[in-house]
Amino acid sequence: MKPAAFNYHRATSVDHATKLLAELEDAKILAGGQSLIPLMNFRLATPAHLIDISNLPELSEVAFDEHSVQVGAAVTHTQLLQHEQVASELPLLVEAEKFIAHEVIRNRGTVCGSLAHADPAGEMTAVLRVLNGAVRTSSVDGERIIQAADLFEGPLQSSLKENEVIVEAIFPKLGPNSTSSFREIARRHGDYAVAGAVSVVEYDDRKSIESARTALLSVGPTPILVSFDERVTGTRISDIDHDEIYEFVSSQINPQDDVQASGDYRRHLAAELAWESLKACV
Ligand code: FAD
Repeated sequence: MKPAAFNYHRATSVDHATKLLAELEDAKILAGGQSLIPLMNFRLATPAHLIDISNLPELSEVAFDEHSVQVGAAVTHTQLLQHEQVASELPLLVEAEKFIAHEVIRNRGTVCGSLAHADPAGEMTAVLRVLNGAVRTSSVDGERIIQAADLFEGPLQSSLKENEVIVEAIFPKLGPNSTSSFREIARRHGDYAVAGAVSVVEYDDRKSIESARTALLSVGPTPILVSFDERVTGTRISDIDHDEIYEFVSSQINPQDDVQASGDYRRHLAAELAWESLKACV
């Protein structure tokens, strides 16, 4: 199918984009178009105006500071996947990117577009959540930072206001005593995950666990963060108990049946993947 008629606007700056977004009735940001255009082709979205931010140099950078990796809103999945400094400073981003879609989609789809789209099956939503990251937004009313815990409100629903543009995603780096791991199962590589788990474990200097948490994808309306602190703090990763983790994760989620899998199967996968990803955080 073809989309309904719309007006195309190429933004020349972030300020221009936010002004257009404020002025135009029924306008949407266009980044990579890999989620929005299919929705428009099926007439599930019929915006009157698209504001294209994909070519803005000010949004095309990956920046680094002591604490975080900042990914501009025009940075594609492929650019992140191939970024050597990202691979060395926050390898979890690259590990997760490998599971996202196929090359042609990664070449256009953006990291921030994934976050704005707020698909609970999106790898980057779970990664932002487990890292306690945030997005920086801009609008005619000014800038704000939205924490991952507050960003995802439901399937394809975020707390972004209609006049806000995500300018960058802020992924906190892990400390020297922390490790991470990503696991997912999809029917074919590149498909959306049937279930997935991304874990971060923080250790003290003697390799005892200080904190452990997992974000689960594809098992609820948003990425779901599960903290294991009460269960594992002070123990060694080799001593954590499969059944305890499995039962605890199972009790924290209530995935629904759909055409891909039953809710029970998703729950089982998520609990096993949480266990596997935790154990891999050595
Ligand atoms: P767009 O499609 O341009 O926009 C998506 C939505 O976000 C729109 O509502 C748009 O208005 C809004 N938006 C985009 N950028 C901003 C911004 N900066 N500020 C405010 N709002 C914004 N994704 C996965 O995570 N995992 C997968 O396995 C996966 N598989 C896929 C398979 C297929 C066949 C396809 C077509 C897509 C798949 N995707 C997958 C989606 C892909 O990752 C998209 O790139 C991503 O979801 C959206 O990014 P985009 O840049 O294409 O956003």
